[in-house]
Amino acid sequence: MLNTIKSSIGVVGLAVMGANIARNFASKEYKTSVYNRTFARTQELVNEFPDHLDGFEELKDFVESLELPRKIIVMVKSGQPVDELIIELLKYVDQDDIIIDCGNSYWKDTQRRQEQLKHKVHFIGCGVSGGSLGALHGPSIMPGGEKHVVDQLLPYLRHVVAKDFLLNPCVSNIGEGAAGHFVKMVHNGIEYALMQSIAEIYNILRSNKYSNEHMRIVFSKLNQGNLQSYLLDITEDILESKIENGDYLLDLVLDKAESKGTGGWTVISAIELGVSIPSLSSALFARYANSQDHITTMIHPIYENLSSQDNLDSTIDEFSKILELNFFASYIQGFELIQKASDEYSWKVDIHEVLRVWEGGCIIRSQMISTLQSYIKLNKTLQIDFLTKYAQYIPKIRHFISQTRVSMATTNASLDYILTFLAPRLPTNLIQAQRDYFGEHTYVRIDSGDTVTGGWNKSKG
Ligand code: NAP
Repeated sequence: MLNTIKSSIGVVGLAVMGANIARNFASKEYKTSVYNRTFARTQELVNEFPDHLDGFEELKDFVESLELPRKIIVMVKSGQPVDELIIELLKYVDQDDIIIDCGNSYWKDTQRRQEQLKHKVHFIGCGVSGGSLGALHGPSIMPGGEKHVVDQLLPYLRHVVAKDFLLNPCVSNIGEGAAGHFVKMVHNGIEYALMQSIAEIYNILRSNKYSNEHMRIVFSKLNQGNLQSYLLDITEDILESKIENGDYLLDLVLDKAESKGTGGWTVISAIELGVSIPSLSSALFARYANSQDHITTMIHPIYENLSSQDNLDSTIDEFSKILELNFFASYIQGFELIQKASDEYSWKVDIHEVLRVWEGGCIIRSQMISTLQSYIKLNKTLQIDFLTKYAQYIPKIRHFISQTRVSMATTNASLDYILTFLAPRLPTNLIQAQRDYFGEHTYVRIDSGDTVTGGWNKSKG
């Protein structure tokens, strides 16, 4: 143990994320107490920063090492482990102490825990994005819960997070209740869609026999302007990574993408709230499809050469439009979902602040966030004008992708989303008419505003 001076903050759960958050606090000279169920991990970590990390084998000693009110960051596996840990912590914490669940917990679990822990301890559901390197060097942090409690945490969190475009810390009081974990969940849903849309471009290029180096050049040209982003940065790095014998590592990776739950929860939440998020859901289902064993060896798909290397610039222009459209559609579907949840559960989420917090540190950071900040300030008419710019790309994009035989699940979903958004009238009047015809489900007459039923010529039964 270091000495009798209490620690400013405590971290429980010292796998990759928790250890790096603790290292991050320690490097900012915060005295930090650390605890892990398996003590070996604690010992290993404390040896790195003996001056700023204080490790404990017993949870009771860990809790008692913290200054009041205690601020305990929980970074353990989501689900049952969080509940088990809370039961243990409750033996030692006071009512004014703060447990901050920084794992990827399902927001409904957070809601339940906040309810169960009322008058026992403060419980904050906190999204953290940036992966392990983000946790170490500066993540984007999304805490949600009682405002006065989150406000107590912000001075600490501000020192360990990334910076936004104006160099302010990428952390904010996201909203009440489970808003922090909900917003992180949607962040991950958007992440699925951005990754899938990049993979769709990669798929076209690969099917047209582009070399990895040539693909890297294409992605570096795409990684500009609105599309300049972390995900395109890492795609460039991945495309040039080689093993000792000179083979490309990416070519050795099995085409099975896993998912840990947040993408699925995003889609479930959208269904529950009745929000249309086709780009996000298509990306989730594309991942499931990619996990299936294929029988491609039996079929030789016919790929047509979309582009030769002589007209690369015009091809890049098409790819750029496809990606911009995908990025834009994915972010705005995410906002729709967050806004609906915030209204439904009275969380008071400020989308501008969410966007600001996503400007740095997080996996979905991109220059497009500046454009989106302007877009969401617009009224509906101006938003339609804005989206019309994207709609102008659509016929060309459709023509372009019609020439390829590769699946473009998210691109197609995004195109449809934009067209639906801009439609002066949707064809759902026919669907509601059919429902009324066979089931007397009623419909609203736009001439009178009345809800009525019947009036159909029922010659077909
Ligand atoms: P993880 O593999 O999700 O979890 C391992 C940690 O949980 C270990 O410290 C483990 O302790 C502890 N643990 C498991 N069951 C426990 C229990 N019943 N009681 C107490 N501790 C228990 O670790 P991670 O990848 O660092 O992620 C931590 C959290 O952050 C997760 O919720 C994850 O979804 C979220 N997250 C991860 C990333 C990422 O890039 N990895 C990014 C953002 C958020 P032992 O050492 O004793 O097994």
